[in-house]
Amino acid sequence: MTVVIVVFILLIAAVYFTLMPFMSERVLARYQSVNQDEYSADELKKINLLRQIKEVEFEREIGIIDQEDFHRVKSELMNETKVVMDSIASEETNAPKPAPRHCPKCSARVPKESKFCGHCGTPLTK
Ligand SMILES: [Zn+2]
Repeated sequence: MTVVIVVFILLIAAVYFTLMPFMSERVLARYQSVNQDEYSADELKKINLLRQIKEVEFEREIGIIDQEDFHRVKSELMNETKVVMDSIASEETNAPKPAPRHCPKCSARVPKESKFCGHCGTPLTK
């Protein structure tokens, strides 16, 4: 009888610790605070995919999905996430950025509008 009680308590503890990160209010608050306007379509897709990965990991933890399905679904989700992340990265790379200006003599980085190098004093031409 004692063994049964100990096993039962361990089971409760295991379920509790598995569920805790998903149920914690901080995590829920963070998910709920995702403001759709602040994210691009790709970023929202990425957030959604990451949630789905978490969900499938959770399903595996509690045993409602078998190992084979878990690996298939997870790798599909990871591939999709990678595509979305690549797309986000290329958007960022393609965004116009002001080219940094460097002194022709000492190569120090200089502000765009300055007429002289702040490092060596060389006059800068446009
Ligand atoms: Zn210089």
